[in-house]
Amino acid sequence: MEIKFDSSSELVIPISYGSSEVIETGKWGFEKPEAAFMTAPCQEVCPAGNPIPQFLYFAGEGRYQEAVETLWKENPFPGVCGRVCFHPCEKDCLRGQYDESVSIHAMERRVFDETTKDHPDILLPSNADSKRVAVVGSGPAGLSAAYFLGLLGHRVTLFEARKELGGVMRWGIPEYRLPKSILKKEIKRILRLSIDVKTGVRVGEGISLEELDRFDAVFLSPGAGLSSSLGIEGEDLKKVWRGGDLLDRINSGEKFRIGKETIVIGGGNTAMDVARAALRLGSKVTVAYRRTRAEMPAIQDEIRDAEEEGVRFEFLLQPAKVSLLKNKKIRVKFQRMKLRGKDQSNRPKAIPLKGETLTLEADGLIKAVGEGVDLSWIPETLSKKSLIDVNPFLATSDPKFFAGGDAVDQPRTIVTAIGAGKRAAIAIDLYLRECAEDDVFSRIRVGNRGALSMEAYLSGRNGGNWSEPKEVISYPQLNTLYFERSKRVEMGRLDRNKALKSFSEVNLGFTSEEARISASRCFSCGTCNYCYNCYFFCPEGVVSLDAQHRIRRVDLEHCKGCGTCAKVCPRNGILMKEPS
Ligand SMILES: Cc1cc2nc3c(=O)[nH]c(=O)nc-3n(C[C@H](O)[C@H](O)[C@H](O)COP(=O)(O)OP(=O)(O)OC[C@H]3O[C@@H](n4cnc5c(N)ncnc54)[C@H](O)[C@@H]3O)c2cc1C
Ligand code: SF4
Ligand code: SF4
Repeated sequence: MEIKFDSSSELVIPISYGSSEVIETGKWGFEKPEAAFMTAPCQEVCPAGNPIPQFLYFAGEGRYQEAVETLWKENPFPGVCGRVCFHPCEKDCLRGQYDESVSIHAMERRVFDETTKDHPDILLPSNADSKRVAVVGSGPAGLSAAYFLGLLGHRVTLFEARKELGGVMRWGIPEYRLPKSILKKEIKRILRLSIDVKTGVRVGEGISLEELDRFDAVFLSPGAGLSSSLGIEGEDLKKVWRGGDLLDRINSGEKFRIGKETIVIGGGNTAMDVARAALRLGSKVTVAYRRTRAEMPAIQDEIRDAEEEGVRFEFLLQPAKVSLLKNKKIRVKFQRMKLRGKDQSNRPKAIPLKGETLTLEADGLIKAVGEGVDLSWIPETLSKKSLIDVNPFLATSDPKFFAGGDAVDQPRTIVTAIGAGKRAAIAIDLYLRECAEDDVFSRIRVGNRGALSMEAYLSGRNGGNWSEPKEVISYPQLNTLYFERSKRVEMGRLDRNKALKSFSEVNLGFTSEEARISASRCFSCGTCNYCYNCYFFCPEGVVSLDAQHRIRRVDLEHCKGCGTCAKVCPRNGILMKEPS
């Protein structure tokens, strides 16, 4: 039979929307798109496991309330961390490999400051299995443990030796870095979880450790509050102060006269804080440290700020003798040092340069050479090498007692202490419910560096279904063709002359425009941020997105599995997989 086309008539193509919907073209595909949801390296490296891409997404959309609530799931201290965290997250930010890292910690601060007037009540959880837990010490470790235990429904009693809560955040870090008003707001919110607070009670004196046996579990977080001594002649003379004591007095509001010139000995956070505080009290300051700048344990930003404010540094000097002169000045004789080999902690070893000394004179000397743990009230069976001894679940050799923060062997930072508080709360909850830790901890980890997700724990604990931990995304997995280069945004700072005349906060935070730009620089590595690439490029039109409610749907009955969406996703948020 011959088929003839009639060129004179119009070509009619039969199209019926209804019938094409009926044809389930999705059955033709060999692969289907699946949401990938990977862990961003910034989040993996944050010891508190802050959900960084998620909170930055909300902040970028101007949804600050949702941003702060996202942070609170994992960290009760965004206002503190946004100011004084050493922000390892920024070092591992993948944007840093493209141009410059995202200003994560300044954004964390912005999110807290922006919502500070509107902190809604925490919904008190109901927990029929609620138990009584004692927490000793109210630094970041103790307060975080109390917060997360409270969120898990337990009744917490918090014992604190001082008259106010906060530990080093209250009595150590000066106002120019961390205003007390910010700390107060964060503590006030934590205490809404009906935590029973006993201030002015030093466990070991006011109440014995044995008496805490009446609790179902105990978390010890007494910090490391003992100032180390120099072990040299003259170190107890008048006009020689301990760094911790001096900061304590300044933070108590005491007026302090320090003299025209001050020498600070040490290279850690205490040394940097007393040096900058002494500048504000009108003194010229020289910091003497036994190694070089590269080995200083203080947070890098603090060293830079101290330098910029005019602190003078002398390296490779070890104090040998202190004497008080007739003119009431302090004279310090230093031994010059050199670096050779490594010590037990794998740091370059400082050894004396024979016969080489230096003498400095000043009106006062501040010793800031490290802090130890007061173990006088802790049984020997719970301690090892001058610290409280714990296993990876922060449990001591006594099953009822857990410990964390500066008093155990872990990096001495605020965010590590917060992470320890969370880890201990989960370990204590598992102990109280007689569940094994290993399996649960491996499922709620955020990447592979020790951070845990309370959100994952709560959802597994309450629903019984533990999700699998997500893989960490790497730079080559990003599709950077879709990103434009841009400069990192830095916070404004108080003018140097003004800063040195008071203890006012030095970092000024972001304006709303700086915050918007900063948040929008985040690549949202491994997480959908509703950029609509998959929606626009899908040749079948089967992707639908609802950014407001954070929903992305693919109509799998009509998706032919071409993989275009996965290829055009800039952040590796879609994987093509064979349907199971
Ligand atoms: C001057 C200084 C500046 C610092 N700056 C920074 C910084 O900028 N960023 C950063 O990340 N880290 C910083 N650090 C380190 C950080 O502050 C600590 O790692 C962190 O505070 C440790 O938390 P913690 O809860 O273990 O202990 P702490 O903060 O020391 O709190 C322990 C609490 O326990 C109480 N306590 C002790 N014994 C008892 C007892 N027997 N009974 C009842 N209560 C008791 C103490 O009074 C105290 O309140 C700084 C440290 C110092 C000293
Ligand atoms: S707590 Fe510290 S490490 Fe974590 S996101 Fe904030 S600044 Fe980064
Ligand atoms: S770009 Fe954003 S999500 Fe990616 S590592 Fe940096 S802050 Fe994290």
